[in-house]
Amino acid sequence: MTIKPAAAAARATVYGYPRQGQNRELKKAIEGYWKGRVTAADLRSAAEGLRRANWRQLAEAGVHEVPTGDFSYYDHVLDASVMVGAVPERHRAAVAADALDGYFAMARGTQDVAPLEMTKWFDTNYHYLVPELGPDTVFTADSAKQVAELGEARALGLTARPVLVGPVTYLLLAKPAPGVAADFDPLTLLDRLLPVYAEVLADLRAAGAEWAQLDEPALAQDRSPAELDAAARAYAFLGEPADRPKLLVASYFDRLGEALPVLAKAPVEGLALDFTERSAANLDALAAVGGLPGKRLVAGVVNGRNVWINDLAASLTTLGTLLGLAERVDVAASCSLLHVPLDTAAERDIDPQIRRWLAFARQKTAEIVTLAKGLAQGTDTIAAELAANRADLAARAGSPLTRDPAVRSRAAGVTDADARRSAPYAERAVAQRALLGLPLLPTTTIGSFPQTTALRTARADLRAGRIDTAGYEERVKEETREVIAFQEQAGLDVLVHGEAERNDMVQYFAEQLTGYLATQHGWVQSYGTRYVRPPILAGDISRPEPMTVRWTAYAQSLTSRPVKGMLTGPVTMLAWSFVRDDQPLGDTARQVALALRDEVADLEAAGTSVIQVDEPALRETLPLRAADHADYLAWATEAFRLSTGGVRPDTQIHTHMCYAEFGDIVQAIDDLDADVISLEAARSHMQVARELAAHGYPREAGPGVYDIHSPRVPSAEEAAALLRTGLEAIPAERLWVNPDCGLKTRGWPETRASLENLVTAARAVRGEISAS
Ligand code: GLN
Ligand code: ZN
Repeated sequence: MTIKPAAAAARATVYGYPRQGQNRELKKAIEGYWKGRVTAADLRSAAEGLRRANWRQLAEAGVHEVPTGDFSYYDHVLDASVMVGAVPERHRAAVAADALDGYFAMARGTQDVAPLEMTKWFDTNYHYLVPELGPDTVFTADSAKQVAELGEARALGLTARPVLVGPVTYLLLAKPAPGVAADFDPLTLLDRLLPVYAEVLADLRAAGAEWAQLDEPALAQDRSPAELDAAARAYAFLGEPADRPKLLVASYFDRLGEALPVLAKAPVEGLALDFTERSAANLDALAAVGGLPGKRLVAGVVNGRNVWINDLAASLTTLGTLLGLAERVDVAASCSLLHVPLDTAAERDIDPQIRRWLAFARQKTAEIVTLAKGLAQGTDTIAAELAANRADLAARAGSPLTRDPAVRSRAAGVTDADARRSAPYAERAVAQRALLGLPLLPTTTIGSFPQTTALRTARADLRAGRIDTAGYEERVKEETREVIAFQEQAGLDVLVHGEAERNDMVQYFAEQLTGYLATQHGWVQSYGTRYVRPPILAGDISRPEPMTVRWTAYAQSLTSRPVKGMLTGPVTMLAWSFVRDDQPLGDTARQVALALRDEVADLEAAGTSVIQVDEPALRETLPLRAADHADYLAWATEAFRLSTGGVRPDTQIHTHMCYAEFGDIVQAIDDLDADVISLEAARSHMQVARELAAHGYPREAGPGVYDIHSPRVPSAEEAAALLRTGLEAIPAERLWVNPDCGLKTRGWPETRASLENLVTAARAVRGEISAS
């Protein structure tokens, strides 16, 4: 599309930027402060320096309006709690004594006081601290952080727009405080919260904000009429006062749906909408309400969640259409750039040719600026950028990395039968019982054993060249021998090799699969000072050689008891990686599944009779909108069955998931057709066992009887009691005994004691069963 100059004075902007700095300076400063090595003053000035560097970088790239208030020492939702004075009772004293230490106490807890609960920010891998509210919550405005950061940016001579978590999203993300009735609805506090937001907005106006952004991603989820009405009331209220900045209400991560007409009608001056593929329906929906006459539209056309270059020509087409639908159209990423790494330039190990396909925060910013320029000054002025972009997109589409004919034809040839076991569960169970000869209530673990300092040191030594591969592998074998010996002595029935050789359950496989890219500096914030470096699913996936067989076979050679093969499932491989944007997710999942299917076959051929394929991410990848669930679950469960469906009837397939709320996907769990599933259950007193039973789940299950999230050792009586509760829901022939999750974060002493108690518990309950 050709856009003529001066169609509108389009501006470039972003909603947020990675906080950590080029070399994760923020992490170092904060952790240094926690350890007492960095003073509060030095931490503050380090943070200020990072904010300044980000703003300068944005401004120099050509961004017209920089965001402020998006920076955080830990989490922006916690910052919002501070801004509205929602400090839990138990943290008040600490906050009063020292605001910064009190803030970190809320985030991390102290010896005596529990932190706020942490949970995933929508369907990203960022985690926020859940506000705790109750009928007695009193909100008070504290605009200090927002006002100060706005002042810092303005002092640099920049046009700045404060970004705040919107009031409706804030309440929808909250939960009842401890001691408050579980059915308390935080949204009932809206009328109390709004004046506090109005006060903060007035302060920002007084501090020179022309615009302020209120983020309402919760409105991109399915919302009830009452919730939509709350949104209408909220913005009617906030739009009222004269002493406020112009309001830009932003939504992202999905289409706005029923909330779009509500916001379009609200007395606010602008909307920011996501126009990337998943939210494409926003375009028609906006046209259907007659656009935003007289208002500002910020168009999120550059995907803020993937790592790929934008199709600039396609974005210009979208922007061209949008020009007719609002008074003024600005260009942005679909969401904060918090969810992508900082700069591809740091990735020296990635082939420069392939690096050209990648766009991290810095590159996405440049794309936004280019698009805004094209929109404001005409596409002729960005002809060179458009040509380069076209060439890069063509190179990517035509590359053998993204198109491996062998992988494609195999994936295309997959049949229904490939994704189905050759015999029904009832027959398999008989064959497996005969082959494995396990006792009633068999005991097992989830896979990993403690990742000791010695192991981590060995891996660091290997990377630094202080030891060679042979030396490293010797240490892994040593660890494996210890893990096997312990399990035999403790009396576990189905053993594991302990996963000593794995750094991470996704990265370990990504490193061995063709089609995956690894980054050196591609850090993204997971929570607080924890950053992860997700691998990138860049091309067609294939497995050049077996990935785990050697370690499993070694462990099996040490014992006559069955050792489980241990793999990460296709859905989890996608969920904890950056995915391709040039084919449906289901296609990528299928390719990964086929690679895993080969690994499963090789394990089976090497004599592994029990194989576990972990899918802890199955639930968390569920799309935000219920209308999209069926589609997702269809490809997700097919991928799992494709990876496991090729085995003999007497090979036992296990899977593992660790989350408590899975009631809404029980059918999908059933559709996996795994012979045995282990689940987190200890903290919820076997709630999952009851949910499985209520669903009529027909196969074997191991609801966890040992909560591995703390060093606490459960007694044998405690584990036995949970087991008896489990037996009320699941018959003994189908009940397994295992911990909630892997033990890699635990120490050896508590692991030993806990597993010994778990075996004692299983034996005691077996005795009770045979006596009755
Ligand atoms: N097998 C993995 C382990 O034990 C599973 C981890 C997980 O569920 N997150 O560590
Ligand atoms: Zn788990």
